[in-house]
Amino acid sequence: MMYRSLTRQQVAETLRTTIATQQGTVVTRTSEVTNATNAGTVAQAALTTATSTDTAARARVTSAQTALTTAQKNLTKAVAKKKPKSTAAALTKARNAVTAATRTLTLRKTEAGQTATSLTAAQLNVRTATGTLATAIANRDAAAAAVVVTQQKLAVLPTAYALATQAKAISRDVVTQSRTGFTTADTTQVYGITVNRNVAYAFKRMLDDARANGVTLSGGGFRTRERQIELRKSNGCPDVWTAPSSSCRVPTAVPGRSLHELGMAIDITQNGKTLSRNTTGFKWLSAHAAAYGFINLPSEPWHWSITGS
Ligand SMILES: [Zn+2]
Repeated sequence: MMYRSLTRQQVAETLRTTIATQQGTVVTRTSEVTNATNAGTVAQAALTTATSTDTAARARVTSAQTALTTAQKNLTKAVAKKKPKSTAAALTKARNAVTAATRTLTLRKTEAGQTATSLTAAQLNVRTATGTLATAIANRDAAAAAVVVTQQKLAVLPTAYALATQAKAISRDVVTQSRTGFTTADTTQVYGITVNRNVAYAFKRMLDDARANGVTLSGGGFRTRERQIELRKSNGCPDVWTAPSSSCRVPTAVPGRSLHELGMAIDITQNGKTLSRNTTGFKWLSAHAAAYGFINLPSEPWHWSITGS
């Protein structure tokens, strides 16, 4: 029975494709984290510069303030002096000093206003960069977690061996059930080969896929009880009904026991010849037939059935 085997392959293939896509997303998200980290470093450096520039500007305001206070005190002293000869020149000089100091203070305050604005902007940039980095890290972690989830799904898929064992057990049940009430109406044709309807789909898929790989297979499937009896005679079995298959010149199952009588065994041919071990057909089937639910009877390289008997 092929269903689970093929389903596993398809599911595994889909999951691997998903993992590849998700890993691509992780790469993208990781580069976004790198970009955000770099942007954060740049913003932090700009904030450091803006902070020291603003500190220096405020120090210059304080200096200008002090200079103005000094100039105003000097003017007050000059006004208080009463010596007429020197008073006029000293007063003019003191007034000019106050005017200059006032102008300098105004200039320094304007400069400090600008550096304060720059500092606020730099602080905002750092906060934005920090937020962007946090989002980028969360996105990258989510992408990495998604990969792990898919990898776990892939890991818990049943192994091909476990599925083959299950399939073999199911196939044995199918054979047992099919022996009761079997008629030729239970058979159908696949490329001229008569097989049981239960295996026709898997068998056709197997031949189609082999041909797609450059291996064209044919063969003989269903045979009647009468034909099996004839074969027992013509293949030199010691008797028709009891002698073991191996005692015949060509191994031939006792009538009623051959899976050919249910259309669930096929004797495969390639290029008109019965399959032997050194053919491309045998090698292809050895590698792939299990996926379609077909197993070889080791003593007969041409004989492939759903239970291997
Ligand atoms: Zn056979």
